[in-house]
Amino acid sequence: MIIICKRGATDEQIAHIEEAIRSWGLKPHTSRGVERAIIGIIGPEDVVREKPLEAFPGVESVTPVLKPYKLASYEFTQKRTVVDVRGVKIGDAQKVVLMAGPCSVESREQILEIARIVKKAGASVLRGGAFKPRTSPYTFQGLGKKGLELLAEARKATGLPVITELMDTKDTEVVEEYTDIIQIGARNMQNFSLLKEVGRCKKPVMLKRGLAATIKDVLLSAEYILNEGNMNVMLCERGIRTFETYTRNTLDLSAVPALKKESHLPVIVDPTHGAGHHDLIPAMALAAVASGADGIMVEVHNNPESALSDGEQSLLPEKFKALVAQMRAVAAAIGKQI
Ligand code: PEP
Ligand code: MN
Repeated sequence: MIIICKRGATDEQIAHIEEAIRSWGLKPHTSRGVERAIIGIIGPEDVVREKPLEAFPGVESVTPVLKPYKLASYEFTQKRTVVDVRGVKIGDAQKVVLMAGPCSVESREQILEIARIVKKAGASVLRGGAFKPRTSPYTFQGLGKKGLELLAEARKATGLPVITELMDTKDTEVVEEYTDIIQIGARNMQNFSLLKEVGRCKKPVMLKRGLAATIKDVLLSAEYILNEGNMNVMLCERGIRTFETYTRNTLDLSAVPALKKESHLPVIVDPTHGAGHHDLIPAMALAAVASGADGIMVEVHNNPESALSDGEQSLLPEKFKALVAQMRAVAAAIGKQI
């Protein structure tokens, strides 16, 4: 932690700050320039992070040296984390992993057919919601446990590992039993008890960015999971709320290089919930591959007109197939494979 003192800070004010630092069991290191004094704090930064240093008279600004998200920071591992999901490596520098499937699991026929379609098209993870976070309580809420069983059946039929959302701590056990990746949805990104709970799970977790979450917020939420011991965490950019209403959200692709600069965790992009309209998804998916994402999550439906959720943003099978071919070309251009 570095404290920059105000121009004209008095000797008494500086001594008072130094004294406070010593009282916290740390060592101040003061250098006095012509213009102003700078106080370096030597010792564990966590101790001072909570102290209201800016409330001390004579303090101009306080700059942390270390990141507040310790375990999530790139500094911590100095190498990229690769999450292995039944042999599918997510975070491998040479690979882009495709996760695809319907917004919700609706029936056996629906999930089995879509699973076969997305597998054939090149996806290596099947997505599908069983517990759905819907804006309105009057809309389809998901099949619950039955949906999880159907996902497991689709995995058995296709060999694709599955990802599904966990919304409530009371369902942790059953979701963890059936899924290969636990999804934490945007609306729950700061549900800290849920984050701690999945931090104690054995299965990998994909944490989606909250609707109004900054990069720092996302990383601090990831920190909750890592801090409980689960190091298999992936981050997912899925669009944030802005003043723009043409698109469902604003897909912040700058989050990809930013998160990868700050953190060792793999970064997935979900252009579907970002853009919200099926005709905008392909362009954003291609841009997401180009931005360096480790994986792309796309909603695909065999009959979007009758989908129980998010039909308007789901790609038809042939559109997804065409998109995969284009994504392969973009991936190849940056030295990656799908
Ligand atoms: C989803 O993936 O189906 C979903 C609800 O996403 P988000 O949490 O990003 O809105
Ligand atoms: Mn959806």
